[in-house]
Amino acid sequence: MFYTSTRDNSIKLTASEAVLKGLSDDGGLFVPSEIPSLSKSLKEISEMDYKETAYTVMKDFLFDYTEEELRSCIDKAYDAKFDTEEIAPLVEAEGVYYLELFHGKTIAFKDMALSILPHLLTTAAKKNKSDKEIVILTATSGDTGKAALAGFAGVPGTRIIVFYPKGGVSKVQELQMVTQKESNTKVIGVKGNFDDCQSKVKELFNDSALKEQMAAAGFQFSSANSINIGRLVPQIAYYVYAYGKLLKEGRITDGEKINICVPTGNFGNILAAFYAKNMGLPVNKLICASNDNKVLFDFFKEGVYDKNREFILTDSPSMDILISSNLERLIYLCIGCDDKANKSLMEHLKTDGVYSIKESFGKVKDQFVGEYADWADSSAKIKSLYEKTGYVIDTHTAVAAASYDKYVKATGDTTKTVIASTASPFKFARSVMKAIDPVYAGEEDFKLIDILSKTANVEIPGAINEIRTSPVVHDTVVEISDMKKAVMDNIGI
Ligand SMILES: *Cc1c(COP(=O)(O)O)cnc(C)c1O
Repeated sequence: MFYTSTRDNSIKLTASEAVLKGLSDDGGLFVPSEIPSLSKSLKEISEMDYKETAYTVMKDFLFDYTEEELRSCIDKAYDAKFDTEEIAPLVEAEGVYYLELFHGKTIAFKDMALSILPHLLTTAAKKNKSDKEIVILTATSGDTGKAALAGFAGVPGTRIIVFYPKGGVSKVQELQMVTQKESNTKVIGVKGNFDDCQSKVKELFNDSALKEQMAAAGFQFSSANSINIGRLVPQIAYYVYAYGKLLKEGRITDGEKINICVPTGNFGNILAAFYAKNMGLPVNKLICASNDNKVLFDFFKEGVYDKNREFILTDSPSMDILISSNLERLIYLCIGCDDKANKSLMEHLKTDGVYSIKESFGKVKDQFVGEYADWADSSAKIKSLYEKTGYVIDTHTAVAAASYDKYVKATGDTTKTVIASTASPFKFARSVMKAIDPVYAGEEDFKLIDILSKTANVEIPGAINEIRTSPVVHDTVVEISDMKKAVMDNIGI
């Protein structure tokens, strides 16, 4: 097994090399040459705790990490930073299983991978005898930024620069980032949307003159976005874990298929579920839920990806994305791992904003279902779920839950379903409380957090209390065209 690029099959890297590099020089993403099968039975997995499941899943993808190295990374990641011993608990409501992925330090699912990525990366640097300081360049739609900052803050041999769309994230998301203290961190607002930030960051990764200049000064880029395979692999683990828990609790029988429904933006989380399925996890449908930026919903209808449309700012900002980077990994598989054809499709996307894989679409059509929910649907779902069960979900999870309801209505499918619950409602308290009752619309943000705590009968997470009083330390805002200069200034070249 090795890692190759979706745009150049002559590339062959080890897992640690792929993690360290982040993105291929040709602009492609690293993909495993094969998807390994689960090495343990479902029954055995059902007896495992989170860490053991993570090890079982990850070891076959990260094949050149020793057992000691990988277990050490896992131990350092999934510890008391999480506020629950289960790491990723399953909560049943209205017969659906919500897989709560937001119990980490920054209360979004990004913590599941970004708690471990810094360890995977620094281990990879050691293994590959890299003596350069790693510069993590990250574009965020709101949650990756803080999770990456928390993961890399104070990690020797690394520094991290985060770009976020100014005005395109929630108040809590912004405060979480701009109050980050450690001196190896830099947070910069961009006058543009997430796609602008991500496209520019990818461009900087491929800027060979810049890379040479950096190398001469002792620096090397890597990525904390889900374009890094080191982000994707840890995410596969929680789907396998969820299946194990359902089996252990007798909610499903051994081998019974489940649906997995994921609120989707950059297509990283649901791609991890797809990898889990292809490792042998019994999965019926992967339900890809979008908000108003429903480019993926349209794609799954007939295999045409068309980003030429208005970018809509929604109440689920972490899904406000029109260029879903990780879809490239799926497209590459669909078209028979044809690197040249994939490269040409991605060039079309860049120049015309559109591509079609109509002819090869059959391969994924049966595995995925696209759905979407606008604010009317998802806010109604937050309200009705709360009123019926007392359970409060965040706005992103609500997009998935409302999309799932639409799917069931359309198909009558009774397969047991896991919904990825991707953020704590406290991160989006304003929108969540507005959904429950418009009377709260005028309240101040931290007041709403107190009200939410009483409404949901859930303690306010530490991540929120942290930002109530922390001073703002990052206030730089730049034009998209000045992002490169901001990076060069930060590293002093
Ligand atoms: C990032 C994020 C998503 C989208 O996940 P992708 O892997 O980008 O598809 C959904 N919900 C929340 C809360 C997020 O932070």
